[in-house]
Amino acid sequence: MGTVLRNIRPIIGLSRTVNARFEGKAFVEVSEEEIEPQEGDVVLDGRGKLAFSGFVNAHTHLAMVIFRGLADDVPLNVWLEEHIWPLERSLKPEDVYWGTMLALAEAIRGGTTCVADMYFHTDEVGRAVEESGIRALVSYGVIAGSLDGRGRAELDRAVTEAKRWNGAADGRIKGAISPHAVYTCGEDVWREAVNEAERIGVPIHTHLSESLHEVAEWKERTGLSPVAYLEWIGAFRVPTIAAHCVHVDEDDMAILAERGVSVAHCPKSNAKLGNGIAPVGRMRNLGVRVAIGTDGAASNNRLDMLEELRMSALLQRARNGDPMRPSAAETLAMATEAGREALGLPTGGLEAGDVADIVLIDAERSHTMPKHDPTATLVYASAAADVTDVIVDGRVLMRNGELLTIDEEKAKAEVTGLLARLKG
Ligand SMILES: [Zn+2]
Repeated sequence: MGTVLRNIRPIIGLSRTVNARFEGKAFVEVSEEEIEPQEGDVVLDGRGKLAFSGFVNAHTHLAMVIFRGLADDVPLNVWLEEHIWPLERSLKPEDVYWGTMLALAEAIRGGTTCVADMYFHTDEVGRAVEESGIRALVSYGVIAGSLDGRGRAELDRAVTEAKRWNGAADGRIKGAISPHAVYTCGEDVWREAVNEAERIGVPIHTHLSESLHEVAEWKERTGLSPVAYLEWIGAFRVPTIAAHCVHVDEDDMAILAERGVSVAHCPKSNAKLGNGIAPVGRMRNLGVRVAIGTDGAASNNRLDMLEELRMSALLQRARNGDPMRPSAAETLAMATEAGREALGLPTGGLEAGDVADIVLIDAERSHTMPKHDPTATLVYASAAADVTDVIVDGRVLMRNGELLTIDEEKAKAEVTGLLARLKG
């Protein structure tokens, strides 16, 4: 039993309408000719829609949707120390499961097919990811000043979770080791985290050079920028996903390019927290791979990749005074293929043998008509609510706007209830 997609208009790769059939995890037939469904096949019609492999959210903390809108318009340290951290300490494993589920409902509805998550109660994050059908990089965020005492236990937990989830759900889930940042993990923690990631064969996922304060403090303490410090530690010998990289100088960018570090650019979170605009154009010119992420919903407040990539394109043009770069195609590539490369995922092509990850988005809404250039329509005009169908690894997760793997109403009710309990 498989699925036949009729009248598919791919945004990337092909410039003609095709038909496709997938069975199991992969496309088995792609043709300009009509494809007859086999017995038991489901048929989806892509007429009037655009098709692509889905967005990759390269940096997020899914369960933080629980704190969406809870403490806006306050400085970062007040936000963390007075609002987020005290409530996070009260979160039970099941709370994280429901928060993750609600986040995944939003992500899938917005056309995201893969997320890179960093949080805690990772057993519950992985369980929600597994049930939802989305692709994910799952990791336990380590915050530990040293390996003495609790620090060792934290790192051990991260290693256990990385091993547990790496390759889970028949390869749909991958693990990572996530030392939270240079300023929240001691040097010995960093060195051991990198050794463990190398041993297990998983990437490092971290926050890097997010604020001016972080960079100034780190130079004061070590004489090195956060990027140069991680280079000195040897972190970049392991594939690394570095969120933010807002305040990086020419030397930092040269290191990121030479070491093949993937930057997860989070423009909305950086803007909302007043941290600035990352030098994405300069990084890309120097050969740095730049993907796009939303960060957590508490500092965004959405997990909406269309909104994120549009914000990225417009901020770069405003920052650089350049109305031509990045182009719509470059922006879309950052939110799709660059994310897949950063996370080590199979490419999202539309040929026989390619993994069946595909998103259909209605392009015949009032706000998207008329359609001249499909890429420009998607990047500058489409909205998350226009997404109609989402398929990951050959499984239909949303069909005609209906989520098939997540009980969305229950997730909303559970998160509302648990927040009332936390605040009570
Ligand atoms: Zn983050």
